[in-house]
Amino acid sequence: MTIQKLNKNNDLPTTTVIDYENKTDDLRLIWLKKPVNFDFKPGQYCTIGKNHIERAYSIASSPHEEFLELFIELVPENDGGVLTPQLWNLKTGDSVTIRPRAKGIFTLKENHPNQLFVGTVTGIVPYVSIIRNYIHQNKKGHKFYILEGASYFDEFVYDNEFFNLMKSNPKLVHFVPTISRPDDLKNSSWNGTTGRVNNIIVDQINSLNLSPNNTMVYACGHPGMIEDVKTKVSNLSFEFLEERFWKDD
Ligand SMILES: Cc1cc2nc3c(=O)[nH]c(=O)nc-3n(C[C@H](O)[C@H](O)[C@H](O)COP(=O)(O)OP(=O)(O)OC[C@H]3O[C@@H](n4cnc5c(N)ncnc54)[C@H](O)[C@@H]3O)c2cc1C
Repeated sequence: MTIQKLNKNNDLPTTTVIDYENKTDDLRLIWLKKPVNFDFKPGQYCTIGKNHIERAYSIASSPHEEFLELFIELVPENDGGVLTPQLWNLKTGDSVTIRPRAKGIFTLKENHPNQLFVGTVTGIVPYVSIIRNYIHQNKKGHKFYILEGASYFDEFVYDNEFFNLMKSNPKLVHFVPTISRPDDLKNSSWNGTTGRVNNIIVDQINSLNLSPNNTMVYACGHPGMIEDVKTKVSNLSFEFLEERFWKDD
């Protein structure tokens, strides 16, 4: 987790909220104006701030897109949230600070033809950027297997984008969303995969015929999920890369 106080002079660059969309009560997409010369690699994060509080956010948009797209989960004040309650008050035209450089090494490692992307809710963000960029650059030679876990089906948010890609280009994208609370009334319409993503990963690896010789595994989002995925795939000798959005208490 990146928690930094802004310097006293408040001399960080600012940028403007172009638009936002609430996807659930606690999940929001935000589009920011991309500062001039703000370069990033797909999978990297930017650092956004408001009222002297800064946090890291992975970038969902691809570098070729006009705006910076962020997908943010609200951590309520009662649960210790500091910046996100402020981000929920933002309106179009408001400003936030943005560090001039994107950072991070959670980027595409092209050495394996199969790329297994595992994420929970907002942990899907780096993969969105990577895949959008891959398609934009008309690259070939890789297949992306995306396993996304959430408690409720409405938390997937990028599911239509991935399902459409899977339909139009099944050789490029395979998407498996899975919900961990199938018995909850809210999920009663769900007829897809169930179980925590870290609990289904080994079965998925086997049924998809993925092997350590041809597959790179990534995990992003919930730290507990990452820890478990890391143990499981490392035991199977897969190469593994992770991005933890917060620390387990
Ligand atoms: C590299 C990186 C990329 C990130 N990308 C994203 C992103 O794309 N989208 C996003 O929503 N967040 C992302 N985060 C997390 C983000 O930086 C903030 O920590 C988060 O938005 C909460 O901010 P806050 O100030 O409200 O609470 P904080 O002061 O950051 O945290 C308050 C408490 O909530 C916990 N916490 C933080 N996030 C969550 C969460 N999602 N669910 C449950 N508990 C949480 C913290 O561990 C802490 O105990 C990223 C973090 C890192 C390190």
